[in-house]
Formats: sequence, C-alpha cells, structure tokens
Amino acid sequence: MRLTIVGCTGSMAGPESAASSYLLEADDTDGRTWRLLLDCGSGAFGPLQTLVDPTTIDAVGVTHMHPDHFADLCGLYVYLRYHPTVGTASRPCERPLEVRGPEGAGSKVAVTFGLDEGENLDCMAFSGWDGAPWHVGPMRVEAFRVEHPVEAYALRVTGPSEADPSREVTFVYSGDTDECDGIVEAARDADLLLVEAAFVEGRDEPRGIHLTGVRAGRVATRAGARSVVLTHLQPWTEPAVVLAEARTTYEGPLDLARPLAVHTV
Ligand SMILES: [Zn+2]
Ligand SMILES: [Zn+2]
Repeated sequence: MRLTIVGCTGSMAGPESAASSYLLEADDTDGRTWRLLLDCGSGAFGPLQTLVDPTTIDAVGVTHMHPDHFADLCGLYVYLRYHPTVGTASRPCERPLEVRGPEGAGSKVAVTFGLDEGENLDCMAFSGWDGAPWHVGPMRVEAFRVEHPVEAYALRVTGPSEADPSREVTFVYSGDTDECDGIVEAARDADLLLVEAAFVEGRDEPRGIHLTGVRAGRVATRAGARSVVLTHLQPWTEPAVVLAEARTTYEGPLDLARPLAVHTV
C-alpha cells in the first residue's frame, strides 16, 4: 500500500498544507490500482487534483464529521457532478462514489453543500461504519470507535505490502482522538500508524479531544506499532516540540506528516 499525504494541518487548512486528507492506494493481483481516500478536509480537494484524477477514486472513508475532515467532499461532489466531460449532470450516475462515515454523514455533507435536510448528493452513496469489515479492492477497512467530542473512528486498513504483495500489512489512521482503548486496539501491531498529535503537553489542557506528542507516542508503544507518522499539528504549533514529546514515549521509527509526502507500507 502507498500512503500519500494530501493534507495534514490540524483543525483547519494551514499556510503550507490543507487539512486532513490521506490517499491510500493498493494494486490488486491483476495490477489494477485501487484508491481509497481517508478524510477530505478543508482545502484538500486542491492538492488532491495534483495527485490523481478525482474520478478514479474508488471510495472515501470519513473518520468524523468535523469540517477539517469532511468539508472538501463538497468540492469533490461538484467535480463529479458538473465537470463538463466526466460530470454526471447530463447523464445518469452509473456508479455513485462510495462514502463511508459516521451515522448521518450524507445528510451533513448535503446540508453543508446547501441542500435541505433529508436531501441527498446524488452521485455519492453514503453508508455508516456498521462494524463489518469494508472491502475496497485488496484493502480491508475496519473502524474502531475513539474518543472525540463527536462520533469518531480510527481506521485500520489491511492490504498487500508494497515491497512484497504476497504479504499482508496494516496501516492505521487515528482520525481525531484522545488516548483511549479504541485507538490502541485499532493500532495493534500496525506496520504504519498515522496518528494525530494536535495538542502540546502543558499548553492544551482539555481532555477527550486530541492526543499530544507524549500521548501519541504512548499509544504507539502500547499498541506495538512498528512505525509512526505524526499528523494533525495545528498551524500555531512548532513541529519539533511535538516530535520531541513523542520521542520520550516511543522508541521506533518516527516522522512528521508533510504535504504530498509518500509513505510505502
Ligand atoms: Zn481534526
Ligand atoms: Zn475533530
């Protein structure tokens, strides 16, 4: 699997990066590339277009319904619907884009787009994280409930190793969460854990919202994660501070998410 950071700034788009969005790609045994977009936050649809043709995205997984994780689904919708040559405005939508998210996600995106409550975006098919594994080509996605002020999930994706496709590897994305059993369970033995570290120890006191570098590192250690990338740093946060925090609680390979960086799993 290949992970490309589309956007990684926490809580809003930042001066150098869009908000949360991650493109996960995997090739099946026939050589067909499957594309799963994880979150599509504020500003993310811009850089996404530099990476792939948006119509080739097979599915979108949304961790929770905060705008820094879903707002640019509206831009993606307009593209799929009204693009003059590939849009569905002038012809029936043959295959709606599959979007999985928390309960009521479809309605929230529709209302954000300006539709009335109960109306649907007609070229997207929304469904909830129902507990059953979700298959996107060779990738299997499992959602784990985590601790955040709204219904939120960490996503655990199992799929073919990029180096040795006969081997299964695991990529885990925390979404937004504070330290809880759900994120540790999701991240168990992950080959790569992409984990938020929005808060800074001693500066951000509220609990039940975000991890700090210290807590993200501790989650990774408790879970036995084999490598870690820290993400969702807020635009006013010094990245070196968060990295140093995580270093005190996690001894394995550790990096910071950077826009458009590619990580193979
Ligand atoms: Zn967020
Ligand atoms: Zn959030």
